Amino acid sequence: METATVMEKIVSLAKRKGFIYPGSEIYGGLAGVYDFGPRGVELLNNLKQVWWKANVYDKDNYYGLDAGMFKHPRVWEASGHVGGFSDPLAECRNCNTRIRVDKELAKVGVVADEKMTEDQINDLFDQHREEIPCPKCGKKEFTRAKAFNLLVKSNLGDFTSEGSEPVYLPGEACQGIYLDYKNIVDSMSPKIPFGVAQIGKAFRNEISPRNFLFRTREFEQADTQYFIRPNENKEAYEAIKTDRWNWYLSLGIREEKLRFKQHDNLVFYAKDAWDIEYEFPTGFDEVEGIHDRTDYDLSQHQKFSGVDLRYLDQETGEKFIPWILETSMGLGRVFLAVLCDAYHEDEMGGETRTVLKLSPTLAPVKAAVFPLLKNKPELIAKAEEVRAALRKIHPAIAWDDNGNIGKRYRRQDEIGTPFCVTIDFDTLGETPELKDTVTLRHRDTGEQERLTVAEVGERIRTAIA
Ligand code: ATP
Repeated sequence: METATVMEKIVSLAKRKGFIYPGSEIYGGLAGVYDFGPRGVELLNNLKQVWWKANVYDKDNYYGLDAGMFKHPRVWEASGHVGGFSDPLAECRNCNTRIRVDKELAKVGVVADEKMTEDQINDLFDQHREEIPCPKCGKKEFTRAKAFNLLVKSNLGDFTSEGSEPVYLPGEACQGIYLDYKNIVDSMSPKIPFGVAQIGKAFRNEISPRNFLFRTREFEQADTQYFIRPNENKEAYEAIKTDRWNWYLSLGIREEKLRFKQHDNLVFYAKDAWDIEYEFPTGFDEVEGIHDRTDYDLSQHQKFSGVDLRYLDQETGEKFIPWILETSMGLGRVFLAVLCDAYHEDEMGGETRTVLKLSPTLAPVKAAVFPLLKNKPELIAKAEEVRAALRKIHPAIAWDDNGNIGKRYRRQDEIGTPFCVTIDFDTLGETPELKDTVTLRHRDTGEQERLTVAEVGERIRTAIA
């Protein structure tokens, strides 16, 4: 497959098959915003469920949370977002295209990170201007880089329109966990170390949203914060890294498409930071950050709020601000990684087909039921009975009675349905020994088996477990 066009094919399939639509499309679209269609929302919900299971139910001492999106204006001062959550922006003097200077520098092998001042980034930019053409017009006539704050403001509760102390939309979802840390300690009495997991929306005024779901202005993050004793971080950090790596494998993502990347330069409070990257058709890029954040977050909120956020160890009587090990994953990026990994074009029955080899757990439809002919009431009635039986195992069972069976298989292949179940005259008893059996067809191999409905149900149950 030619890599340059794979992303275009995935974007097109995602829209055509109801996974992802461009936001506000009938008005010409809104850059950096996408909508999850009927199949997309199923896949997204399945992703959230497997993440929640792995990070709340399957772990000891982890708690779920769903904090409000709006937060007190001081939260974003304490977190450093008001002062420092910015990207270096430069504009092409010829065609006004805006670029993120740090990302363009990275493409020519130069590291410019959030720790650097505007002047430092400009020094680097000046040294490499000749290597950075405008992505639109190709000229190399950019303005100086200027720090551009990414927080999105709202006018919540501001009836004067002065906007002197704006309430921001969340720049990252995890702040809610720090704000409710004390409530969780007081209400749930967790013993340290303990974790809190949350899925929440984030908004960033990204300078150049790009690569489909990869860089958007509205997105969802799935975060965990693990509260530990000061300095007891090394072993726990390694365990979290391994756990997160294995989670991606459990989604069926090919291991060779994943890699760890350590941050070259750390923000002043961090002890260590690694990203998990996936090889998109456009190259390796971050899907999740795993950060050793020391006691920075809770210390900042203690300082700004004036509330004692120290943890009291009931056994020893010690009081301390816990350190935090964080995992922060963008659901849109993982959704895209899952789609890219599942997308295949292969040959089946002498024809080229497009197939999404999604893990059955993530697939939006678990099985599709086909009555062989749609004008035979006995076949329809039997197929409805089969669908009702399978829906008891999982509700996402589709129905298709349109066109020949081969075409119906192709339609299900394109949306990643792992099983197709055909009801024919043998099911009705035309061949007595086959009465009440159906044909089960497997997506990836095209293999077919004759089974009872109960056996088909068992196959589906096992595959999605
Ligand atoms: P980048 O360097 O790509 O801008 P980041 O390091 O700022 O990302 P974090 O602030 O660590 O990202 O956010 C955690 C996760 O949230 C990222 O790993 C990514 O999956 C997701 N994420 C961040 N920004 C975006 C965005 N604009 N669109 C979609 N997902 C995003």
